[in-house]
Amino acid sequence: MSKKKLVYLSRSAKEELSETLGHEPTLGEMKNIFGGKGAGLAAMTDAGLPVPPAFTITTEACIEYMKSGEFPEGMWDQTIEALKDIEAQTGKKFGDPSNPLLVSVRSGARQSMPGMMDTVLNLGLNDETRAALADLTENEWFSYDAYRRFISMFSDIVMDYSREHFEEKLEEIKKEEGVRADTEVSLEGMKRLVEEYKAMYKEHFGEAFPTDPHKQLNLAIKAVFNSWNGARAIAYREHEGIPHDWGTAVNVQTMVFGNMGDDSATGVAFSRDPATGEHEYLYGEFLINAQGEDVVAGIRTPQRVSLKGSRNWAERQGIPEEVRASKYPSLEEAMPELYKQFLDIVDQLEEHYRDMQDMEFTIERGKLWMLQTRTGKRTAASAVRIAVDQVKEGRISKQEALMRVEPEHVELLMRPSFDPEAEKKVIARGLNASPGAAVGIAVFDAERAKAQADAGKEVILVRPETAPDDVPGMLASKGVLTQKGGATSHAAVVARGNNLPCVAGCEEISVDVGRAQLTVGDMVIKEGDTISIDGFTGEVYEGTVPLIEAEYGRQTALIKLLEWADEFRVLGVRTNADYPKDARRAVAFGAEGIGLCRTEHMFFDEKARDAVVRMIMAETDEARRAALDEMLPFQEQDFEGVFEAMDGKPVIMRLIDPPMHEFLPSREELIEEVAELRCTNPDSPELTEKENMMEVVNGLWETNPMMGLRGCRAGIMYEGLTEMQTRAYFQAACRCAKRGIKVIPEVMIPLVGHVNELKMEREKLEAVAEQVMEEEGIEVEHMFGTMIEVPRAALTAGEIAEYAEFFSFGTNDLTQMTFGYSRDDAEGKFLLKYVEGFDTGEVDENGDPIKFKILETNPFQSLDEAGVGRLVRICVAEGKAAKPDLEIGICGEHGGDPASIDFCHRVGLDYVSCSPFRVPVARLAAAQATIQNAK
Ligand code: ADP
Ligand code: MG
Ligand code: MG
Repeated sequence: MSKKKLVYLSRSAKEELSETLGHEPTLGEMKNIFGGKGAGLAAMTDAGLPVPPAFTITTEACIEYMKSGEFPEGMWDQTIEALKDIEAQTGKKFGDPSNPLLVSVRSGARQSMPGMMDTVLNLGLNDETRAALADLTENEWFSYDAYRRFISMFSDIVMDYSREHFEEKLEEIKKEEGVRADTEVSLEGMKRLVEEYKAMYKEHFGEAFPTDPHKQLNLAIKAVFNSWNGARAIAYREHEGIPHDWGTAVNVQTMVFGNMGDDSATGVAFSRDPATGEHEYLYGEFLINAQGEDVVAGIRTPQRVSLKGSRNWAERQGIPEEVRASKYPSLEEAMPELYKQFLDIVDQLEEHYRDMQDMEFTIERGKLWMLQTRTGKRTAASAVRIAVDQVKEGRISKQEALMRVEPEHVELLMRPSFDPEAEKKVIARGLNASPGAAVGIAVFDAERAKAQADAGKEVILVRPETAPDDVPGMLASKGVLTQKGGATSHAAVVARGNNLPCVAGCEEISVDVGRAQLTVGDMVIKEGDTISIDGFTGEVYEGTVPLIEAEYGRQTALIKLLEWADEFRVLGVRTNADYPKDARRAVAFGAEGIGLCRTEHMFFDEKARDAVVRMIMAETDEARRAALDEMLPFQEQDFEGVFEAMDGKPVIMRLIDPPMHEFLPSREELIEEVAELRCTNPDSPELTEKENMMEVVNGLWETNPMMGLRGCRAGIMYEGLTEMQTRAYFQAACRCAKRGIKVIPEVMIPLVGHVNELKMEREKLEAVAEQVMEEEGIEVEHMFGTMIEVPRAALTAGEIAEYAEFFSFGTNDLTQMTFGYSRDDAEGKFLLKYVEGFDTGEVDENGDPIKFKILETNPFQSLDEAGVGRLVRICVAEGKAAKPDLEIGICGEHGGDPASIDFCHRVGLDYVSCSPFRVPVARLAAAQATIQNAK
């Protein structure tokens, strides 16, 4: 026998792994070797919790099996030995005709893969052990129920003979006997089912159902190993980015029975509400007299674990309290002692894992057994609330809390909800399974949902219930609506894990997949009709319900978490805001200044527009100056609003940036209009006007406008333009200052490529600033700086720094010019394909095509560290060397991207600047950058 240990008993797993590794295993190591489920069983057993005796075959054994197609040497012997230990612990014997041991065979990878690989229950049953089970429990019905479940599960999961065939038979018998629930089928009916199931098996496979428990076990273990490479499992790993070579562990565990009568039950529970993070009560469901999957399968309506949760649920369903208490009592009411014991266990598990747990339990004739625990999936809101609460409870540190929340979670919390004031027609109510508001067309099939979404439609996937095959369609949808299933149903779990709004168990609707429609009362919603679903309340509406912005001010947990983020982060966080309204919002979200205030929108103002056109078209200095004078008040007014909103925080105003032709009518349009007027109205003054305009537009026309007369080049060439902007800016600043508002105006000169461009513009504009301050009779603290967006500027940062108090990386243009990709055209033409990859004609070990990707990520979304980042590094180093107190930030899209923020931290920028809604995201990402780079 090989010395390699491939099978570990849960009761000694930790100890023995310690020996194998030569040190105390970490939670991560336990998971890697035993899988999540196996590690959980070992940890719970180790903590003295009631866990049915079990052993785990390691992921390593699976990996070896996948290579050779055979059990690795020694594995089977070790399995038999472990089985003996379990026999000793339970006093039962595998295959024994008088006191048989029955087991479950459960898969379990490192990372939970919900519903990907299945579990076989009641393994070890055959005619003889069934009879023994009947005698021992004095419950013949139960023994047949267990047996028929085993035959169908084994056939389905191990032998790939679909369970549906067996379900059909069950339905037939239920119909014959005139009963609705499985539990109401007669003893005779159960006996008949077992006989028919065996006959079906024999007919299908040409041999009898395997009666030898060891053979059953052998086949079941192989099936779990093989399921790792099943199509569903592979698709899930692809989506989640889980490596294909991790393998799964196999857990073999003594069966306990929740279906032994009314003092038995089975259920699932979260230690805190996975939707909201609430922890006053347990969030869970259970069924009396049921086994395994019954709770999630939606066959019977499950009951709630905690009384409070039960009342909340009943209220939402419109169930009166008397009915609830008698028909759907909570575990707290039905089995108060066990409930208390369960609460204690939950507390212990949270203490051990220091995080919210998702647990499975079974009660067999009044005894509680724990079957699984794992860190629970949760919504964004819940993730934030739990992290904050756990710090307050002293379970985790602030740093850990900050690292536990994904920056994208924060973004989700900033998302809109339905306008409570809006008129809406509620057509049904279900369970508020996953929060968020979604509007889209109803689609009744997951594949079609994906196709529609890919075609650019917003889709709500509507299903009777969902299964793993529906996951790609779910993820492509804006929201999910199901008719059946509870808060722990597949739809609910997947939706919460992916922050997808979901209303589940909406029994009022009737989904007809065949006809692609749903009916509710006498209303019919067909595929393609728009509906709105509210995952916060569980309501379903006809048509489109308008959305309103999230109320940041009421998200107390998020505000607390971000306060902690501010304690840790080194990077400053500013915002890109052009209007006072955006500036105010960004300040409320925590922005510490404006990193980029674009000034051109003010030129698009209808009233200002005429003056802008006249300025561009002016033939004399006088005409130009007159036009500029008219533009000035518009600019000044907006700047005052922005200064008021920022009250004392720095504001970077970027001078005019786009090419001038953008302010004029398009050339194509003019050509057409002129041609038409020449025919219809040849002598009109209108024609003359258009012809003049066309001449100007023709004169401005450039082959490469983005590399043309724009930015500081326009400032230099259009006399008086940036002087006017600077005047307006400093007048606004001085006037605000005189009203007692603290102002820090900063002027940013864009698109500098040569130091002389900056020198010339700066000297000219500084004179204007001085003059305005003198006229206004007040001095304000101010700065001049430049945007770094032309590669040459980055490469000559030392020279440029001499004329700048600050740099701000305009990474959109810098990326465009470093790669030589036009950011207006590249994505559609080739860039997305570069990122998606090209077929190589080769396939990987799973038969999937291997793609060659030119780019790993889109450089306009996440900063390209190797190339653009190198320029940034050079620029920071040489800029700061020339001027140590040079302030350096970033104001491109990348300023709100967590990975790019991490880079900004590492290169030592002073701040990032992003759109108002990304400000909270950036605060967290900046804190994470500090924590993770300090390690
Ligand atoms: P999944 O990963 O799909 O949750 P599990 O291995 O947890 O699969 O098994 C599914 C369900 O089967 C469990 O929730 C539990 O109710 C039941 N089950 C598994 N093992 C046992 C056992 N030893 N005794 C009783 N029920 C079991
Ligand atoms: Mg499963
Ligand atoms: Mg489970």
